[in-house]
Amino acid sequence: MKIVALSLALPILAALPQSALAWGDDGHKTIALIAQQCLTPKASDAVKSLLAADTDNLVPHDIANAATWADKFRDENNRRDHYQETQNWHFTDIEIATPDLTAACFGRKPLPARMLASDGPPQACAVDKVEQFGAELADSGTDAEERVMALKFVLHFAGDLHQPLHSPDNHDYGGNSVKVTVEGFKHTRKDELHGFWDTQFVDAIAKPPTALSKQLLAEITPAQAAEWAQGKPEDWAMEAFNLGKNDAYGSPPLSKDTPQQIDAVYVAKAETDVKLQLKRAGVRLALFLDQKLASETPDWNACLKAGSAVSSRARTRQ
Ligand SMILES: [Zn+2]
Repeated sequence: MKIVALSLALPILAALPQSALAWGDDGHKTIALIAQQCLTPKASDAVKSLLAADTDNLVPHDIANAATWADKFRDENNRRDHYQETQNWHFTDIEIATPDLTAACFGRKPLPARMLASDGPPQACAVDKVEQFGAELADSGTDAEERVMALKFVLHFAGDLHQPLHSPDNHDYGGNSVKVTVEGFKHTRKDELHGFWDTQFVDAIAKPPTALSKQLLAEITPAQAAEWAQGKPEDWAMEAFNLGKNDAYGSPPLSKDTPQQIDAVYVAKAETDVKLQLKRAGVRLALFLDQKLASETPDWNACLKAGSAVSSRARTRQ
């Protein structure tokens, strides 16, 4: 990956808190662990060998940690003043008053010929980056180092596309400018709406990623998985847009103009939405990797029954 010129950077975005721009680590790990369950043997082997060949040590080389790499990479770049290289790739900010996916994706320009997806450009959205990195994964002629990076970006961005505040925007950076007080939550210095959807509402489920992924896997039916598997990344973004517009912003939308009060009814709905989106993301990530790395599709009946069996055994032991 080359260093992209910073002359294209938007200073106002560079001023945003970096930690509040993605599912937290636990959300990404949970999604990757759900996906792992439904990888075909061929795709699973390909994932393992790609991660084993990784020479970057920002995160450990298992699938759960690898799914958090893109955030660490962006933040590491920030320390080197290269935050703008990849930071836009984590979301698709579609305005709720005038929804326009093409505008949110900076015109949806195709990747310039012979440019690696990891080389840019900085003005691209999560939808298009998932497709670009997916195409590199599917192409056996892709440079070996680039394929490893493509896998780590796909593991992460497929998750980001399902965060309910990574698709809708109300001229507030996906709720990053909305200050909130949330019933039942301790408040630290981080009190932005976006951060609650990234992290606090996931943490409130009160399970580490391994346990949460098993619980969620046991709740997914093969019929649900088959239904969720229908769409493409742009459909995932529009689905998250609608969910985020209705439930994360609400009507009238939570405003950045004054501190907003969030009650327990909102929180309960948010936790339901978070679980649904983690499940959908895990199922779709599995399908995407199976297709790109093995030209196969998951056997939902087999992999979801297996997840359910693991979960019931775990319950029996408690
Ligand atoms: Zn992210």
